[in-house]
Amino acid sequence: MTETAPIEPAASNEISSIFDVRSIADIYSEVRDLYLSDHRPWIVGYSGGKDSTTVVQIIWNALKGLSPEQRTKPVHVISSDTLVETPVIIDTINGNLALINKAAQEQGLPIQAVKLYPQIKNSFWVLLIGKGYPTPSKSFRWCTDRLKIKTSDTFILDKVSEHGEVILVLGVRKSESSARAQLMNSYKIEGSLLSRHSKFAQSFVYTPIEDFSKDDVWTYLLQNPSPWGGSNRDLLALYKSADSGECPVVVDEYSPPCGNSRFGCWVCTVVTKDKAIMGLIDNGEEWLEPLLKYRDMLAETQNKEKKPIYRDYKRMNGKIKYKRDGSGELIRGPYKFEYSKQFLRELLETQREVQKIGPDPNLQLILPEELHEIRRIWRQEKGDWEDSVPKIYREVMGTDLDWIQDDRGMFSGEEGNLLEVTCQKHDIPVQLVAKLLDIERQVQGMKRRAAVYSRIEDVLGEEWRTEEEITKE
Ligand code: SF4
Repeated sequence: MTETAPIEPAASNEISSIFDVRSIADIYSEVRDLYLSDHRPWIVGYSGGKDSTTVVQIIWNALKGLSPEQRTKPVHVISSDTLVETPVIIDTINGNLALINKAAQEQGLPIQAVKLYPQIKNSFWVLLIGKGYPTPSKSFRWCTDRLKIKTSDTFILDKVSEHGEVILVLGVRKSESSARAQLMNSYKIEGSLLSRHSKFAQSFVYTPIEDFSKDDVWTYLLQNPSPWGGSNRDLLALYKSADSGECPVVVDEYSPPCGNSRFGCWVCTVVTKDKAIMGLIDNGEEWLEPLLKYRDMLAETQNKEKKPIYRDYKRMNGKIKYKRDGSGELIRGPYKFEYSKQFLRELLETQREVQKIGPDPNLQLILPEELHEIRRIWRQEKGDWEDSVPKIYREVMGTDLDWIQDDRGMFSGEEGNLLEVTCQKHDIPVQLVAKLLDIERQVQGMKRRAAVYSRIEDVLGEEWRTEEEITKE
């Protein structure tokens, strides 16, 4: 299809197609005009799914129509990697990002693709296994914010401080739902192609495919080959094997929620069934089965009746809280430490298995940096005197990581056993004494020890009755 030829209307159940009223040349020209209208850099969210691929491709083709002197404003294509992306999908995304960077340079386009990662302290495994966060659900979806929004926020604010203002280009469509259409309309700036950003006053949003239907998107992708050498037919095949939907780069309220994702995390328990992995397995990627098993194991912990088995009766702050419905039921806290250890062991076993049966013998489901951070949290916050992470790692993987040995003053497992016996004898909660000793150890050698009193107070203020005692009372 050429730029001037209007696209044939797509065979669609939806009422109309964008191409009934606009030609692709018209859309390219709108993109070019907006690009040339100021110096604000563009940040394009790219998830590897059909909508964001369409947006990047439209921008690419539009900018190619400008002279090299006009193509000076940077266009950043950002893609967030949650570190728990579905392996096959992330390989495709990585491949496309590399192709985008190479082809943009060759074709003299100011487009640059970057991958964004969550901070290790906010990674999925550090929060779930390290801190004990329950696996995300519809009612407690902590992951999107920490794994996606925070990372893109940091990038956006960075560019804002460099350039004053930025324009985000997003692949959202009104036909996704009437709620989405309503939300998009509510941010529109009268008489402008741009909308306000829901959070940052210095960022504006441009949505070039807002009036596209799903069929329009596929029509465009299938009639216009990928300008960076990717394959839109492979993308279609991916959708066929993994159902529709995608987990986009979430940058603000504008972005569709990613719970019902196919391009999302392999470990996602926000959806009831992980159709993405199931679709891929059905399509011959049987080596992903251990991942599905692990994800289902985590999903199981969400069952109402199983929560008391897996989750602590105390909240993260050590206090108890009752449900508001008057049932006298406790709101459960983080995973019990014994289960955190079990989850780590099973995750490493899963990793070992997929390394053996899958195409990549070095595939990492959890990074060494995450293991170091989990170890630190367990030792400093969970009273893990045994130092379980290196032990579990060695038992499962048969090797050691370069564990930091500088643990001066750390208590050992032997001391932990001794403490347990002593506390039992005197009927004192062992965790209480362990926490107090840990505080004392952490402030050793410090000149100013004033903060130690409030920390001791916090520990003493935690709930130290057992669950049985609370229930009886
Ligand atoms: S795909 Fe699921 S686990 Fe991943 S960020 Fe989205 S909702 Fe959270």
